[in-house]
Amino acid sequence: MKKYDFVIIGSGSGGGTAAILAAQHKTSVALIEGGNIGGTNLHWGCIPIKSLVSSSKMFQHARHGEDYGVNIPQVNASLATWTNRERLVVAKLAEEMDRSLRKHGITVLRGTASFETENTIRIHNDKSTEIIEGRKIIIATGSVPFTFENTSAESRKLVGTSNDFVHLTHLPPRLLIVGGGYIGCELCGIYSSLGSQITLVEGGSHLLPELETEAGDYLQKKFEQSGVRVILNTKVTGVTHSEDGNRAVAQLDNGQTIEEDRILVAVGRHPNLDDLNLDIVGISHDRAIIVNDQLQTNLRHVYAIGDCNGRCALAHSAFAQAEVAVLHAIGESATMDFRHIPFCVLTNPEITAVGLNEESAVKQGIPIKVSRCSFRSVGRALAMGELDGFVKLVAEEHSGRILGGLIIGSNASELIPQIVLALKFGATAHQLAHMTCPRPSLSEAIQEAARRLISDPLNSL
Ligand SMILES: Cc1cc2nc3c(=O)[nH]c(=O)nc-3n(C[C@H](O)[C@H](O)[C@H](O)COP(=O)(O)OP(=O)(O)OC[C@H]3O[C@@H](n4cnc5c(N)ncnc54)[C@H](O)[C@@H]3O)c2cc1C
Repeated sequence: MKKYDFVIIGSGSGGGTAAILAAQHKTSVALIEGGNIGGTNLHWGCIPIKSLVSSSKMFQHARHGEDYGVNIPQVNASLATWTNRERLVVAKLAEEMDRSLRKHGITVLRGTASFETENTIRIHNDKSTEIIEGRKIIIATGSVPFTFENTSAESRKLVGTSNDFVHLTHLPPRLLIVGGGYIGCELCGIYSSLGSQITLVEGGSHLLPELETEAGDYLQKKFEQSGVRVILNTKVTGVTHSEDGNRAVAQLDNGQTIEEDRILVAVGRHPNLDDLNLDIVGISHDRAIIVNDQLQTNLRHVYAIGDCNGRCALAHSAFAQAEVAVLHAIGESATMDFRHIPFCVLTNPEITAVGLNEESAVKQGIPIKVSRCSFRSVGRALAMGELDGFVKLVAEEHSGRILGGLIIGSNASELIPQIVLALKFGATAHQLAHMTCPRPSLSEAIQEAARRLISDPLNSL
Protein backbone atom coordinates (compact mmCIF):
# COMPACT_ATOMS: atom_id res chain seq x y z
CA MET A 1 0.00 0.00 0.00
CA LYS A 2 1.35 3.45 -0.94
CA LYS A 3 1.88 5.85 1.96
CA TYR A 4 1.81 9.63 1.80
CA ASP A 5 2.40 12.45 4.30
CA PHE A 6 -0.85 14.04 3.08
CA VAL A 7 -3.88 12.47 1.45
CA ILE A 8 -6.27 15.19 0.26
CA ILE A 9 -9.80 14.42 -0.90
CA GLY A 10 -11.19 16.93 -3.41
CA SER A 11 -9.21 19.23 -5.71
CA GLY A 12 -11.32 22.42 -5.46
CA SER A 13 -10.33 25.77 -3.94
CA GLY A 14 -9.57 24.10 -0.61
CA GLY A 15 -8.06 20.75 -1.61
CA GLY A 16 -6.13 22.02 -4.64
CA THR A 17 -4.54 24.81 -2.60
CA ALA A 18 -3.78 22.47 0.32
CA ALA A 19 -2.05 20.02 -2.03
CA ILE A 20 0.25 22.68 -3.48
CA LEU A 21 1.04 24.20 -0.07
CA ALA A 22 1.77 20.78 1.44
CA ALA A 23 4.07 19.92 -1.49
CA GLN A 24 5.87 23.24 -1.07
CA HIS A 25 6.69 22.09 2.46
CA LYS A 26 8.50 19.10 0.97
CA THR A 27 5.91 16.50 1.95
CA SER A 28 4.56 13.68 -0.24
CA VAL A 29 1.00 14.43 -1.37
CA ALA A 30 -1.79 12.39 -2.98
CA LEU A 31 -4.76 14.41 -4.27
CA ILE A 32 -7.94 12.46 -4.99
CA GLU A 33 -10.63 13.83 -7.30
CA GLY A 34 -13.88 12.15 -8.33
CA GLY A 35 -15.05 14.88 -10.72
CA ASN A 36 -13.27 17.74 -12.49
CA ILE A 37 -9.85 18.83 -11.22
CA GLY A 38 -10.34 22.34 -9.85
CA GLY A 39 -13.79 21.74 -8.32
CA THR A 40 -16.73 24.13 -8.13
CA ASN A 41 -14.85 27.41 -8.15
CA LEU A 42 -13.21 26.66 -11.47
CA HIS A 43 -15.94 24.73 -13.31
CA TRP A 44 -19.32 25.89 -11.95
CA GLY A 45 -18.69 28.83 -9.61
CA CYS A 46 -16.73 32.06 -9.47
CA ILE A 47 -14.71 31.67 -12.67
CA PRO A 48 -17.60 30.83 -15.07
CA ILE A 49 -19.78 33.46 -13.42
CA LYS A 50 -17.07 36.11 -13.49
CA SER A 51 -16.47 35.34 -17.16
CA LEU A 52 -20.21 35.69 -17.97
CA VAL A 53 -20.41 38.88 -15.87
CA SER A 54 -17.49 40.33 -17.85
CA SER A 55 -19.28 39.57 -21.14
CA SER A 56 -22.45 41.12 -19.78
CA LYS A 57 -20.59 44.23 -18.66
CA MET A 58 -18.82 44.59 -22.01
CA PHE A 59 -22.20 44.25 -23.77
CA GLN A 60 -23.70 47.01 -21.66
CA HIS A 61 -20.72 49.29 -22.21
CA ALA A 62 -20.89 48.69 -25.96
CA ARG A 63 -24.62 49.45 -25.99
CA HIS A 64 -23.93 52.73 -24.21
CA GLY A 65 -20.81 53.49 -26.26
CA GLU A 66 -22.13 56.92 -27.20
CA ASP A 67 -22.00 57.98 -23.54
CA TYR A 68 -18.22 57.56 -23.82
CA GLY A 69 -17.92 59.17 -27.25
CA VAL A 70 -17.69 55.82 -29.05
CA ASN A 71 -20.19 55.18 -31.81
CA ILE A 72 -20.87 51.47 -32.25
CA PRO A 73 -23.60 51.13 -34.90
CA GLN A 74 -24.76 47.60 -34.12
CA VAL A 75 -24.15 45.65 -30.95
CA ASN A 76 -25.08 41.97 -30.84
CA ALA A 77 -24.53 39.34 -28.20
CA SER A 78 -25.65 35.80 -27.54
CA LEU A 79 -25.45 33.52 -24.56
CA ALA A 80 -23.80 30.85 -26.72
CA THR A 81 -20.79 33.08 -27.48
CA TRP A 82 -20.53 34.16 -23.85
CA THR A 83 -20.58 30.52 -22.73
CA ASN A 84 -17.99 29.68 -25.36
CA ARG A 85 -15.67 32.37 -24.00
CA GLU A 86 -16.35 31.11 -20.48
CA ARG A 87 -15.25 27.60 -21.50
CA LEU A 88 -12.00 28.95 -22.93
CA VAL A 89 -11.26 30.85 -19.70
CA VAL A 90 -11.99 27.74 -17.63
CA ALA A 91 -9.88 25.52 -19.92
CA LYS A 92 -6.91 27.89 -19.64
CA LEU A 93 -7.08 27.91 -15.83
CA ALA A 94 -7.56 24.13 -15.72
CA GLU A 95 -4.40 23.78 -17.80
CA GLU A 96 -2.54 26.07 -15.39
CA MET A 97 -3.72 24.02 -12.45
CA ASP A 98 -2.67 20.77 -14.09
CA ARG A 99 0.78 22.24 -14.75
CA SER A 100 1.10 23.42 -11.15
CA LEU A 101 0.11 20.03 -9.69
CA ARG A 102 2.68 18.31 -11.91
CA LYS A 103 5.38 20.88 -11.15
CA HIS A 104 4.90 20.26 -7.43
CA GLY A 105 5.17 16.49 -7.82
CA ILE A 106 1.65 15.83 -6.51
CA THR A 107 0.20 12.38 -7.19
CA VAL A 108 -3.28 12.89 -8.64
CA LEU A 109 -5.62 9.91 -8.26
CA ARG A 110 -8.93 9.86 -10.11
CA GLY A 111 -11.94 8.30 -8.41
CA THR A 112 -14.29 8.52 -5.44
CA ALA A 113 -12.64 8.43 -2.03
CA SER A 114 -14.04 6.88 1.12
CA PHE A 115 -12.55 6.07 4.51
CA GLU A 116 -11.50 2.48 5.00
CA THR A 117 -9.84 2.98 8.40
CA GLU A 118 -8.72 6.07 10.30
CA ASN A 119 -5.58 6.36 8.15
CA THR A 120 -6.52 4.57 4.93
CA ILE A 121 -8.62 5.76 2.02
CA ARG A 122 -10.20 3.61 -0.67
CA ILE A 123 -10.33 5.15 -4.14
CA HIS A 124 -12.59 3.55 -6.69
CA ASN A 125 -13.42 4.39 -10.28
CA ASP A 126 -14.89 2.52 -13.27
CA LYS A 127 -11.71 0.57 -13.81
CA SER A 128 -10.04 -0.07 -10.45
CA THR A 129 -9.95 0.20 -6.69
CA GLU A 130 -6.90 1.26 -4.71
CA ILE A 131 -6.23 1.80 -1.04
CA ILE A 132 -3.66 4.33 0.15
CA GLU A 133 -2.47 5.50 3.54
CA GLY A 134 -2.11 9.07 4.77
CA ARG A 135 -0.27 10.30 7.85
CA LYS A 136 -2.51 13.38 7.65
CA ILE A 137 -5.79 13.48 5.74
CA ILE A 138 -7.56 16.62 4.54
CA ILE A 139 -11.20 16.35 3.49
CA ALA A 140 -12.13 19.07 0.98
CA THR A 141 -15.18 17.60 -0.74
CA GLY A 142 -17.08 20.89 -1.12
CA SER A 143 -20.82 21.23 -1.44
CA VAL A 144 -23.65 20.48 -3.86
CA PRO A 145 -26.76 22.51 -4.69
CA PHE A 146 -30.13 21.81 -3.08
CA THR A 147 -32.84 20.81 -5.53
CA PHE A 148 -36.56 20.15 -5.16
CA GLU A 149 -37.30 16.59 -4.17
CA ASN A 150 -40.08 14.68 -5.92
CA THR A 151 -39.63 16.49 -9.24
CA SER A 152 -40.65 14.23 -12.13
CA ALA A 153 -38.17 13.37 -14.88
CA GLU A 154 -40.18 15.48 -17.38
CA SER A 155 -40.20 18.54 -15.11
CA ARG A 156 -36.49 18.12 -14.41
CA LYS A 157 -35.75 18.92 -18.08
CA LEU A 158 -37.05 22.43 -17.44
CA VAL A 159 -35.57 22.91 -14.00
CA GLY A 160 -31.90 23.22 -13.10
CA THR A 161 -29.39 24.47 -10.56
CA SER A 162 -26.49 26.86 -11.09
CA ASN A 163 -24.45 23.85 -12.27
CA ASP A 164 -26.70 23.67 -15.35
CA PHE A 165 -27.28 27.37 -15.80
CA VAL A 166 -23.64 28.54 -15.90
CA HIS A 167 -23.21 26.49 -19.07
CA LEU A 168 -26.53 27.34 -20.75
CA THR A 169 -26.24 28.18 -24.46
CA HIS A 170 -29.88 29.13 -25.22
CA LEU A 171 -31.37 32.07 -23.38
CA PRO A 172 -34.75 31.21 -21.87
CA PRO A 173 -37.15 33.99 -22.97
CA ARG A 174 -38.86 33.76 -19.56
CA LEU A 175 -37.10 32.50 -16.48
CA LEU A 176 -38.08 31.97 -12.86
CA ILE A 177 -35.22 32.14 -10.38
CA VAL A 178 -35.97 30.59 -7.00
CA GLY A 179 -33.71 32.09 -4.34
CA GLY A 180 -32.40 35.64 -4.03
CA GLY A 181 -29.02 34.77 -2.50
CA TYR A 182 -25.82 35.74 -4.25
CA ILE A 183 -25.91 32.90 -6.81
CA GLY A 184 -29.52 33.60 -7.87
CA CYS A 185 -28.79 37.33 -8.06
CA GLU A 186 -25.57 36.95 -10.06
CA LEU A 187 -27.27 34.74 -12.66
CA CYS A 188 -30.29 37.06 -12.70
CA GLY A 189 -28.03 39.99 -13.63
CA ILE A 190 -26.38 38.03 -16.46
CA TYR A 191 -29.58 36.70 -18.10
CA SER A 192 -31.59 39.89 -17.71
CA SER A 193 -28.82 41.87 -19.41
CA LEU A 194 -29.43 39.67 -22.48
CA GLY A 195 -33.17 40.30 -22.38
CA SER A 196 -34.59 37.30 -20.52
CA GLN A 197 -37.82 38.22 -18.68
CA ILE A 198 -37.05 37.21 -15.12
CA THR A 199 -39.14 36.66 -12.01
CA LEU A 200 -37.03 36.29 -8.86
CA VAL A 201 -38.72 34.72 -5.83
CA GLU A 202 -37.06 34.99 -2.41
CA GLY A 203 -38.38 33.43 0.80
CA GLY A 204 -36.91 36.13 3.06
CA SER A 205 -37.79 39.79 3.42
CA HIS A 206 -34.93 41.06 1.23
CA LEU A 207 -32.56 39.91 -1.49
CA LEU A 208 -29.05 38.81 -0.45
CA PRO A 209 -30.04 37.46 2.98
CA GLU A 210 -26.30 36.94 3.60
CA LEU A 211 -25.93 40.75 3.94
CA GLU A 212 -27.66 43.64 5.71
CA THR A 213 -31.06 44.69 4.35
CA GLU A 214 -29.75 47.84 2.67
CA ALA A 215 -27.60 45.84 0.23
CA GLY A 216 -30.48 43.64 -0.95
CA ASP A 217 -32.84 46.59 -1.19
CA TYR A 218 -30.35 48.47 -3.37
CA LEU A 219 -29.99 45.51 -5.71
CA GLN A 220 -33.75 44.97 -5.83
CA LYS A 221 -34.23 48.54 -7.03
CA LYS A 222 -31.60 48.06 -9.76
CA PHE A 223 -33.19 44.76 -10.84
CA GLU A 224 -36.68 46.29 -10.96
CA GLN A 225 -35.39 49.23 -13.03
CA SER A 226 -34.12 46.71 -15.57
CA GLY A 227 -37.46 44.88 -15.72
CA VAL A 228 -36.92 42.01 -13.27
CA ARG A 229 -39.99 41.14 -11.18
CA VAL A 230 -38.94 40.53 -7.56
CA ILE A 231 -41.27 38.69 -5.17
CA LEU A 232 -40.21 38.60 -1.50
CA ASN A 233 -41.47 36.66 1.54
CA THR A 234 -42.62 33.84 -0.72
CA LYS A 235 -41.42 30.25 -0.94
CA VAL A 236 -41.63 27.87 -3.86
CA THR A 237 -42.89 24.55 -2.52
CA GLY A 238 -42.66 22.37 -5.61
CA VAL A 239 -42.13 22.26 -9.34
CA THR A 240 -44.14 20.55 -12.10
CA HIS A 241 -44.73 21.23 -15.80
CA SER A 242 -47.52 22.46 -18.07
CA GLU A 243 -49.83 19.96 -19.82
CA ASP A 244 -47.92 20.19 -23.10
CA GLY A 245 -44.70 19.61 -21.17
CA ASN A 246 -43.08 22.79 -22.56
CA ARG A 247 -43.25 25.08 -19.55
CA ALA A 248 -42.18 24.74 -15.94
CA VAL A 249 -44.72 25.49 -13.24
CA ALA A 250 -43.79 26.52 -9.70
CA GLN A 251 -46.19 26.23 -6.76
CA LEU A 252 -45.87 29.04 -4.24
CA ASP A 253 -46.65 28.80 -0.53
CA ASN A 254 -49.39 31.43 -0.99
CA GLY A 255 -51.33 29.00 -3.20
CA GLN A 256 -50.46 30.72 -6.48
CA THR A 257 -48.44 29.28 -9.36
CA ILE A 258 -45.90 30.80 -11.75
CA GLU A 259 -45.37 29.34 -15.22
CA GLU A 260 -42.15 30.10 -17.13
CA ASP A 261 -39.91 28.55 -19.80
CA ARG A 262 -37.26 27.44 -17.31
CA ILE A 263 -36.69 27.47 -13.56
CA LEU A 264 -33.34 28.02 -11.88
CA VAL A 265 -33.28 26.65 -8.35
CA ALA A 266 -30.75 28.63 -6.31
CA VAL A 267 -31.83 27.93 -2.76
CA GLY A 268 -28.43 27.14 -1.30
CA ARG A 269 -25.90 24.34 -1.16
CA HIS A 270 -25.13 21.59 1.34
CA PRO A 271 -21.85 19.89 2.28
CA ASN A 272 -20.94 16.97 0.07
CA LEU A 273 -20.32 14.09 2.51
CA ASP A 274 -22.16 11.31 0.68
CA ASP A 275 -19.36 8.94 -0.31
CA LEU A 276 -16.90 9.49 2.51
CA ASN A 277 -18.02 6.76 4.95
CA LEU A 278 -17.42 9.15 7.86
CA ASP A 279 -19.43 7.03 10.31
CA ILE A 280 -17.23 3.97 9.76
CA VAL A 281 -14.29 5.80 11.35
CA GLY A 282 -16.39 7.93 13.70
CA ILE A 283 -15.74 11.41 12.26
CA SER A 284 -18.28 13.73 13.85
CA HIS A 285 -20.66 15.52 11.54
CA ASP A 286 -24.16 16.84 11.46
CA ARG A 287 -25.15 18.67 8.31
CA ALA A 288 -21.42 19.43 7.89
CA ILE A 289 -18.14 18.01 9.24
CA ILE A 290 -17.47 19.43 12.70
CA VAL A 291 -14.05 21.09 13.07
CA ASN A 292 -12.16 23.21 15.61
CA ASP A 293 -10.38 26.49 14.82
CA GLN A 294 -7.40 24.55 13.47
CA LEU A 295 -9.89 22.78 11.15
CA GLN A 296 -9.24 19.39 12.78
CA THR A 297 -12.06 16.91 13.09
CA ASN A 298 -12.48 14.83 16.24
CA LEU A 299 -9.81 12.54 14.71
CA ARG A 300 -6.93 14.96 15.15
CA HIS A 301 -4.93 13.81 12.10
CA VAL A 302 -7.97 14.40 9.86
CA TYR A 303 -8.82 17.97 8.80
CA ALA A 304 -11.90 19.24 6.95
CA ILE A 305 -11.69 22.49 4.99
CA GLY A 306 -13.87 24.56 2.66
CA ASP A 307 -17.59 24.11 2.03
CA CYS A 308 -17.68 20.62 3.58
CA ASN A 309 -17.28 22.01 7.12
CA GLY A 310 -20.11 24.52 6.62
CA ARG A 311 -18.22 27.37 8.34
CA CYS A 312 -17.96 29.82 5.41
CA ALA A 313 -18.76 28.60 1.91
CA LEU A 314 -16.60 30.88 -0.22
CA ALA A 315 -13.61 30.14 -2.42
CA HIS A 316 -11.24 32.57 -0.67
CA SER A 317 -12.29 31.13 2.68
CA ALA A 318 -11.39 27.64 1.40
CA PHE A 319 -7.97 29.00 0.31
CA ALA A 320 -7.37 30.49 3.77
CA GLN A 321 -8.51 27.28 5.48
CA ALA A 322 -6.14 25.22 3.31
CA GLU A 323 -3.23 27.27 4.58
CA VAL A 324 -4.25 26.89 8.24
CA ALA A 325 -4.81 23.13 7.93
CA VAL A 326 -1.51 22.45 6.17
CA LEU A 327 0.55 24.64 8.52
CA HIS A 328 -1.07 23.09 11.57
CA ALA A 329 -0.61 19.58 10.21
CA ILE A 330 3.13 20.10 9.72
CA GLY A 331 3.47 21.32 13.29
CA GLU A 332 3.28 25.09 13.00
CA SER A 333 0.83 27.12 15.03
CA ALA A 334 -2.11 28.29 12.90
CA THR A 335 -5.68 29.27 13.69
CA MET A 336 -8.50 30.08 11.28
CA ASP A 337 -10.04 33.51 11.75
CA PHE A 338 -13.40 33.68 9.98
CA ARG A 339 -14.18 37.25 11.11
CA HIS A 340 -12.54 39.17 8.30
CA ILE A 341 -13.56 37.21 5.22
CA PRO A 342 -15.17 39.51 2.67
CA PHE A 343 -18.42 38.55 0.96
CA CYS A 344 -18.67 39.47 -2.72
CA VAL A 345 -21.63 39.53 -5.10
CA LEU A 346 -20.70 39.92 -8.76
CA THR A 347 -23.78 41.76 -9.90
CA ASN A 348 -23.82 45.09 -11.69
CA PRO A 349 -23.03 47.01 -9.52
CA GLU A 350 -20.85 44.68 -7.45
CA ILE A 351 -21.70 44.37 -3.77
CA THR A 352 -19.13 43.48 -1.13
CA ALA A 353 -19.06 43.56 2.64
CA VAL A 354 -16.74 42.57 5.47
CA GLY A 355 -16.83 42.56 9.25
CA LEU A 356 -19.67 43.85 11.40
CA ASN A 357 -22.56 45.55 9.63
CA GLU A 358 -24.67 48.41 10.96
CA GLU A 359 -27.78 46.26 11.38
CA SER A 360 -26.01 43.60 13.48
CA ALA A 361 -24.18 46.21 15.58
CA VAL A 362 -27.47 47.94 16.42
CA LYS A 363 -29.11 44.57 17.25
CA GLN A 364 -26.20 43.68 19.53
CA GLY A 365 -26.26 47.13 21.19
CA ILE A 366 -22.67 47.93 20.15
CA PRO A 367 -22.09 51.71 20.15
CA ILE A 368 -20.97 52.61 16.63
CA LYS A 369 -20.47 55.48 14.24
CA VAL A 370 -21.52 55.04 10.61
CA SER A 371 -20.52 57.07 7.57
CA ARG A 372 -20.98 56.75 3.85
CA CYS A 373 -19.66 58.28 0.66
CA SER A 374 -21.51 58.05 -2.63
CA PHE A 375 -19.53 57.29 -5.79
CA ARG A 376 -21.38 60.24 -7.38
CA SER A 377 -19.01 62.53 -5.49
CA VAL A 378 -15.86 60.75 -6.68
CA GLY A 379 -14.12 62.16 -9.78
CA ARG A 380 -12.86 58.81 -11.04
CA ALA A 381 -16.34 57.26 -10.83
CA LEU A 382 -17.72 60.15 -12.89
CA ALA A 383 -14.94 59.74 -15.46
CA MET A 384 -15.71 56.03 -15.68
CA GLY A 385 -19.46 56.62 -15.96
CA GLU A 386 -19.93 54.36 -12.92
CA LEU A 387 -22.05 56.44 -10.56
CA ASP A 388 -23.91 53.64 -8.82
CA GLY A 389 -23.38 52.90 -5.19
CA PHE A 390 -21.45 54.02 -2.15
CA VAL A 391 -18.95 53.05 0.53
CA LYS A 392 -20.29 52.66 4.05
CA LEU A 393 -18.01 52.30 7.07
CA VAL A 394 -18.85 51.18 10.59
CA ALA A 395 -16.48 52.15 13.44
CA GLU A 396 -16.46 51.60 17.18
CA GLU A 397 -17.84 54.80 18.73
CA HIS A 398 -15.26 55.47 21.44
CA SER A 399 -12.05 54.28 19.74
CA GLY A 400 -12.87 54.92 16.08
CA ARG A 401 -11.60 51.39 15.29
CA ILE A 402 -13.03 50.18 11.96
CA LEU A 403 -15.46 47.30 12.55
CA GLY A 404 -16.83 46.70 9.07
CA GLY A 405 -17.72 48.05 5.68
CA LEU A 406 -20.13 47.69 2.79
CA ILE A 407 -19.23 48.71 -0.74
CA ILE A 408 -21.73 48.83 -3.57
CA GLY A 409 -20.31 49.97 -6.89
CA SER A 410 -17.94 49.34 -9.74
CA ASN A 411 -14.91 47.25 -8.74
CA ALA A 412 -16.20 46.84 -5.20
CA SER A 413 -14.46 43.48 -4.87
CA GLU A 414 -11.14 45.13 -5.74
CA LEU A 415 -11.71 47.89 -3.15
CA ILE A 416 -12.86 45.78 -0.19
CA PRO A 417 -9.35 44.45 0.65
CA GLN A 418 -8.51 47.94 1.94
CA ILE A 419 -11.19 47.50 4.60
CA VAL A 420 -10.10 43.88 5.19
CA LEU A 421 -6.59 45.19 5.94
CA ALA A 422 -7.98 47.88 8.24
CA LEU A 423 -9.89 45.19 10.17
CA LYS A 424 -6.96 42.78 10.28
CA PHE A 425 -4.58 45.35 11.70
CA GLY A 426 -7.12 47.12 13.93
CA ALA A 427 -6.87 50.42 12.03
CA THR A 428 -8.91 53.41 13.14
CA ALA A 429 -11.00 55.76 11.02
CA HIS A 430 -8.31 58.38 11.62
CA GLN A 431 -5.62 56.13 10.11
CA LEU A 432 -7.80 55.20 7.13
CA ALA A 433 -8.68 58.86 6.55
CA HIS A 434 -5.01 59.76 6.36
CA MET A 435 -3.81 57.11 3.93
CA THR A 436 -2.69 58.57 0.62
CA CYS A 437 -4.93 57.44 -2.22
CA PRO A 438 -4.04 57.72 -5.90
CA ARG A 439 -6.05 60.59 -7.33
CA PRO A 440 -8.32 60.16 -9.09
CA SER A 441 -9.30 56.68 -7.93
CA LEU A 442 -12.38 54.88 -6.62
CA SER A 443 -10.46 54.37 -3.34
CA GLU A 444 -11.09 58.01 -2.55
CA ALA A 445 -14.62 56.95 -1.57
CA ILE A 446 -13.18 54.83 1.24
CA GLN A 447 -10.93 57.64 2.37
CA GLU A 448 -13.79 60.13 2.28
CA ALA A 449 -16.09 57.80 4.26
CA ALA A 450 -13.31 57.50 6.86
CA ARG A 451 -12.90 61.28 6.95
CA ARG A 452 -16.60 61.59 7.63
CA LEU A 453 -16.24 59.22 10.59
CA ILE A 454 -13.81 61.70 12.15
CA SER A 455 -15.93 64.68 11.06
CA ASP A 456 -13.35 65.96 8.60
CA PRO A 457 -15.09 65.61 5.22
CA LEU A 458 -13.54 66.93 2.02
CA ASN A 459 -16.74 67.00 -0.01
CA SER A 460 -20.41 67.14 0.75
CA LEU A 461 -22.21 64.67 -1.55
C1 LIG B 1 -22.50 29.62 -9.02
C2 LIG B 1 -21.48 29.80 -7.95
C3 LIG B 1 -20.81 31.01 -7.85
C4 LIG B 1 -19.86 31.19 -6.86
N1 LIG B 1 -19.23 32.39 -6.80
C5 LIG B 1 -18.30 32.58 -5.84
C6 LIG B 1 -17.58 33.82 -5.77
O1 LIG B 1 -17.77 34.72 -6.59
N2 LIG B 1 -16.65 33.97 -4.80
C7 LIG B 1 -16.41 32.97 -3.89
O2 LIG B 1 -15.56 33.16 -3.02
N3 LIG B 1 -17.07 31.79 -3.92
C8 LIG B 1 -18.00 31.58 -4.87
N4 LIG B 1 -18.66 30.39 -4.93
C9 LIG B 1 -18.40 29.38 -3.88
C10 LIG B 1 -17.12 28.62 -4.17
O3 LIG B 1 -17.16 28.10 -5.47
C11 LIG B 1 -16.98 27.50 -3.13
O4 LIG B 1 -17.03 28.06 -1.84
C12 LIG B 1 -15.65 26.79 -3.30
O5 LIG B 1 -15.55 26.21 -4.58
C13 LIG B 1 -15.51 25.69 -2.22
O6 LIG B 1 -14.30 25.03 -2.41
P1 LIG B 1 -14.09 23.58 -1.82
O7 LIG B 1 -12.66 23.24 -2.06
O8 LIG B 1 -14.61 23.50 -0.45
O9 LIG B 1 -15.04 22.62 -2.68
P2 LIG B 1 -15.21 22.38 -4.25
O10 LIG B 1 -14.61 23.46 -5.05
O11 LIG B 1 -16.64 22.08 -4.45
O12 LIG B 1 -14.34 21.07 -4.51
C14 LIG B 1 -14.71 19.84 -3.98
C15 LIG B 1 -14.18 18.75 -4.89
O13 LIG B 1 -14.25 17.51 -4.22
C16 LIG B 1 -14.63 16.49 -5.13
N5 LIG B 1 -15.21 15.39 -4.34
C17 LIG B 1 -16.31 15.41 -3.57
N6 LIG B 1 -16.47 14.22 -2.93
C18 LIG B 1 -15.44 13.45 -3.31
C19 LIG B 1 -15.04 12.11 -2.98
N7 LIG B 1 -15.71 11.38 -2.10
N8 LIG B 1 -13.95 11.63 -3.60
C20 LIG B 1 -13.22 12.36 -4.48
N9 LIG B 1 -13.54 13.63 -4.81
C21 LIG B 1 -14.63 14.17 -4.22
C22 LIG B 1 -15.63 17.17 -6.05
O14 LIG B 1 -15.73 16.50 -7.29
C23 LIG B 1 -15.02 18.58 -6.16
O15 LIG B 1 -14.18 18.69 -7.29
C24 LIG B 1 -19.60 30.15 -5.92
C25 LIG B 1 -20.26 28.93 -6.02
C26 LIG B 1 -21.19 28.76 -7.03
C27 LIG B 1 -21.90 27.43 -7.12
